Amino acid sequence: MWQQTLAQPLTFSGIGLHSGRPVTVTIYPAAANHGLRFVRADLPDRPEILAHYSKVVDTLRATTLGEGMATLSTVEHLLAALRGAGVDNARIAVEGPEVPIMDGSAGPFAALLAETGFKTLPWLRAYLRVHRPVELREGDQWMRVVPGEPRITYTIDFSHPLIRRQRFTVPLASEAFAREIASARTFGFLKEVQYLQTHGLALGGSLDNAVVLDDAGVLNPGGFRFPDECVRHKILDAMGDLALLGLHLYGRLEVSRGSHEFHLRFLQHLMDQQASWRVWLPSPRTRETQPSWFQPTRWEGAPA
Ligand SMILES: [Zn+2]
Repeated sequence: MWQQTLAQPLTFSGIGLHSGRPVTVTIYPAAANHGLRFVRADLPDRPEILAHYSKVVDTLRATTLGEGMATLSTVEHLLAALRGAGVDNARIAVEGPEVPIMDGSAGPFAALLAETGFKTLPWLRAYLRVHRPVELREGDQWMRVVPGEPRITYTIDFSHPLIRRQRFTVPLASEAFAREIASARTFGFLKEVQYLQTHGLALGGSLDNAVVLDDAGVLNPGGFRFPDECVRHKILDAMGDLALLGLHLYGRLEVSRGSHEFHLRFLQHLMDQQASWRVWLPSPRTRETQPSWFQPTRWEGAPA
């Protein structure tokens, strides 16, 4: 499986959830092994922030990355869209302190990326392949990864009558992301939104970029996009956080009642369990270990 980048640069704008102000983003193609890197294009010297879990500085309600004095928040939906589309390398210039919230999902990002197209790079993609289970449990939250084809199963349990217990499974690294996950919106409770706004937060938050619930039901006129939109959005968040691993996870991931904070604690825990995984480069020539989704490139022999 070869690394990918964008076929050409892509620019879009939207409002920031917390500031309520417009933000412009340009995503540039990047060379193999560059990884996903953000640039605070509005600051002097345009500081760069690597999309890596070691750079996370805040996980309250969104994932915020930081490098020195420069921070960038709400990176998770865009990262999930890039990973969902199979983009390994890109330089993401953001003209503000947060990635635009768009409609609260990764749907607009996924559509823009698909329209822009992709370019295959002549380097193999590296996976973190799990060969022994790794688990982290804290109270009623737990996460575990076991050997197997890449997929994620998420379970949530809320006392709200329209959510309750929801569970969803989706393969990682496939069109399933675009179809099942990308358009699931973030959700919140009216009381929480009102509290945030009186404290000067979520000023850009509205029914245009979140599903908002009160005690009786959904306030958005169109209701949910999927009956289990909430758990699908949690998978979206987890995929965005998973992109901060820097490698593609090759294993079956299960999450119960996660949060950005817990997803990231799990990534750190996983990296610490070095006897349980290895870095794996599925090559077109190592046929015996190739996963079923991997289509080997035909080797016609060296030119004479
Ligand atoms: Zn989210």
